[in-house]
Amino acid sequence: MIPVNLPLVDGREKELLIECIESGWISEGPYVKKFEENFSNFIGMNHGIAVTNGTAALEAAIFAIDLKEGDEVIMPSFTIISCAIVALRFGAKPVLVDIEPLTWNINVDQIESKITSRTKAIMAIHMYGHPCDIDPILDLAKKYNLKVIEDASQVAGALYKEKRCGGIGHISAFSLYANKIVTTGEGGMVMTSDDKMADRARSYRNLCFRPDRRFYHTELGNNLRMTNMQGAIGIAQLERIDEFVEIKRANGARYRELLDPIPGIRAQIEKPWAKMVYWMYAVELDESTGWDAEKMMAELFSRGVETRPFFIGLHEQPALLDKGLYRNEEFPVTYNSSRQGFYLPSSMSLTDTQINFVVDQIKDILEV
Ligand SMILES: *Cc1c(COP(=O)(O)O)cnc(C)c1O
Repeated sequence: MIPVNLPLVDGREKELLIECIESGWISEGPYVKKFEENFSNFIGMNHGIAVTNGTAALEAAIFAIDLKEGDEVIMPSFTIISCAIVALRFGAKPVLVDIEPLTWNINVDQIESKITSRTKAIMAIHMYGHPCDIDPILDLAKKYNLKVIEDASQVAGALYKEKRCGGIGHISAFSLYANKIVTTGEGGMVMTSDDKMADRARSYRNLCFRPDRRFYHTELGNNLRMTNMQGAIGIAQLERIDEFVEIKRANGARYRELLDPIPGIRAQIEKPWAKMVYWMYAVELDESTGWDAEKMMAELFSRGVETRPFFIGLHEQPALLDKGLYRNEEFPVTYNSSRQGFYLPSSMSLTDTQINFVVDQIKDILEV
């Protein structure tokens, strides 16, 4: 079986982890701070605030921008549920915008019509390794006085017009889960260059302890602290991020070369202003092939190829529909892509032989 994704942890991770254990720094510790500095420097933000996972990073970012009950947050309909959960947790409403079909990122032309007097923020979520078109989002944010929260979980190392994703919006969130470009096992990071927002995110991460009076709280926080062991792994991972990105891009190029000529299956377009990182090699089947993602994934699995389906639209989530959201709203591109899209094995350890095997199976199934 060719797995859909394996992490690459054969750098200094083990050495630094052993050091944590031998020194006794296994909860908080110096590696967390160093990792925050290294990662935020790499991305180009003044502050990094390490947390327990990507969902927690989004939660702390939402707190940092001071989202309040009744506020609205605009986000794409095609994303992980974490984005909606964190808005709802603060009593805000996730307002959805459909995606554009070529990169599966938010359709920026449809955002302005969703802005109301209650809109407080736009989530610029970069999908499957390809940046979303964030400049028009920043323009709207300026015009309507909104905050832009980047979700850069799938794009560590990607560039938007020479700028690193996650370093462009007012505040950003990264997941460091095992399948992300840089991992700490579980983990996440908030980044911002705004001192006040950084203070708020840092405070939220640690139960909103007041610096002036311990065990006295004027706001409700959470415990989202990263361990020193995760920080150690993060430092070792980050040392290799350029190498990781080049491996992902080389695998992506290889898939592209072999799959592009095949009719009925297409990959993400790389826009001229983007340097994508091929977080996962994502493809969408044309309905004219007679195949949908579910059927194709089952067939590939039976031939030894593990894949993963695309997200299901937020407007189709019973947990959100039960709250009275999105009852009569339609997001046709999201709807279609969630049925026709899936991603192929994308490990950094993937060999050319494995890529050839995957592509041969697809050709055989599609009879081309
Ligand atoms: C992985 C991911 C998350 C969630 O991160 P966790 O670490 O699993 O909580 C959030 N947003 C995006 C875009 C992701 O890819």
